[in-house]
Amino acid sequence: MTPESPYIPRRKTYASNGKVDLKSFDREGLQEWFVSNGEKKFRGHQVFKWMWQRGVTDFDAMTNIPKSTRAWLNETATISWLESAGAQHSNDGTRKYLWECEDGSHIESVFIPDENHPGKARRTLCVSSQVGCAMACTFCLTGDLGLKRNLSPSEIANQVLQVSQDLGEDRPITNIVMMGMGEPLHNLDNLIHSIRTMLDDEGLNLSHRKITVSTVGLVPAMKKLQSALPVNIAVSLNASSEAQRLEVMPITKRYSMDDLLGTCRELPVHKSKRITFEYVMMAGFNDSMEDAARLIRLMRGIKSKINLIPYNENPARDIRRPSAKRVKDFQHYLVSRGVHCSVRTTRGKDISAACGQLGKAKQTATTLV
Ligand code: SAH
Repeated sequence: MTPESPYIPRRKTYASNGKVDLKSFDREGLQEWFVSNGEKKFRGHQVFKWMWQRGVTDFDAMTNIPKSTRAWLNETATISWLESAGAQHSNDGTRKYLWECEDGSHIESVFIPDENHPGKARRTLCVSSQVGCAMACTFCLTGDLGLKRNLSPSEIANQVLQVSQDLGEDRPITNIVMMGMGEPLHNLDNLIHSIRTMLDDEGLNLSHRKITVSTVGLVPAMKKLQSALPVNIAVSLNASSEAQRLEVMPITKRYSMDDLLGTCRELPVHKSKRITFEYVMMAGFNDSMEDAARLIRLMRGIKSKINLIPYNENPARDIRRPSAKRVKDFQHYLVSRGVHCSVRTTRGKDISAACGQLGKAKQTATTLV
């Protein structure tokens, strides 16, 4: 494939009470904003560090910024913050955070520690990208909300900063999965800006190898994302044929499986990386050995690994999770034929923090501990 020119998202300025939210810029954008206001570029750099490395929200705490500049910033700018609306702790160490945005919307982030991960402890944060979701996958609870709005870059990155602060310096977040509420690639520009802040060593200082963006398969946005940032991509496939996928994921009408998998074959995936395909297993729907056989054919020519997610049951859906044996057999079938395949352990189920259980934020707000 010919390398495409890198995708550069449009810069949008987010205002709050008529003031510019400085956290909605990546570092370069913030520096430009300072310059366009007749200030020195390096002031942008300094403010960026105060906000993202020190978590400062008050300009007056920025002691290396001249008083007159601070006064001007107080007048024209603001540093956004998510209001904590509670947290729930699971008995497996998972924590679900509920945030209230400035407009009163609620979003969730889920912290999933795996201190025994082979090699090195893994502490993953599952981050939301939208309030609600427009994709309407039939099995997913977030879809029931419909799309309320996109999150701004600061609302996305603040989830990471604020959970990090809550955990303390000795338990740093190591991995980010954009697998919370929303379809991240439906909010591409803001996603890219927020990830730049996550990757920036003067910002949240995370590695691109440790950031995974999960998507229903918005084909053009997948290409744009990969041309902009070298992060990992996960595709929610969830079916082994076009007809089956159409039943549960309406986006298939827009981008066929052929189109989606063709794109995956051509994405400039780094040598050491594979595209993850998430496959939510639903009993009697997509969990037969015929499904497994079809899945193997679909994966031909793609540097892939499959992540089986046994369906998390909930009262709002008449969908069953396959037995543990069925999941194991399915995995074994794939692995024994040379396909990389893992099973996602369900975490945080007792606090409704598991995959597909986010989005009941308002209702759970009253029951938080
Ligand atoms: N919109 C993106 C990001 C959300 S990720 C995407 O779809 O990829 C959430 C993951 O949880 C998706 O892979 C989705 O298929 C899966 N999921 C949704 N509901 C689920 C449920 N009840 N049980 C298990 N997985 C579920």
